[in-house]
Amino acid sequence: MNRVKILDREFDLSIPEEKLLKAVDQVAERINKDLDGKNPLMICVLNGSFMFASDLMKRLTIACEISFVKLSSYSGTGSTGTVKEIIGLNQDIKDRTVVLLEDIVDTGLTIINTVEQVKQMGPADVRVATMLFKPDACKRDVKLDYVGMDIPNDFIVGYGLDYDGYGRNLKDIYTVVE
Ligand code: 5GP
Repeated sequence: MNRVKILDREFDLSIPEEKLLKAVDQVAERINKDLDGKNPLMICVLNGSFMFASDLMKRLTIACEISFVKLSSYSGTGSTGTVKEIIGLNQDIKDRTVVLLEDIVDTGLTIINTVEQVKQMGPADVRVATMLFKPDACKRDVKLDYVGMDIPNDFIVGYGLDYDGYGRNLKDIYTVVE
């Protein structure tokens, strides 16, 4: 499937599954090395990062836990810029090593705000693992510890990422046709 139609837009295949999984392999390898013995708590930021979190967890060989949180600040093809609170973190993260799992860092606003909120809960260390990063869109100074791959500043769907709720189930990533 080289082109898909989702609602009113067309998208072209841009990153096949094999390439995505190779990137996840590399992130997992680094986390396994860096965080061995640290008993990290992986925090999956829903909805978009569920597929990345699943593939990553299967590749982690160290003792670790996972928790799921939500913060919704995006709709359609433009970031609203609104900052939302973390919902659903019931676990005590005081003095723990925490790794936030993100689908994509675009402007960087979401991850900066999320890290700030998590830091206020007193963890020993907060790290960020993002599947995708748009360096040309990100004007802020963000500290990303693990990046699956850098991508151009175009709107994408698939591998957990949606267009108005659809397309999350695509195993490959597709880029909007302008
Ligand atoms: P940021 O705050 O870094 O600008 O945006 C982060 C959030 O915007 C991501 O978690 C994701 O939900 C959404 N986002 C950013 N770029 C894209 C994109 O190309 N496609 C989709 N589907 N969502 C995106």
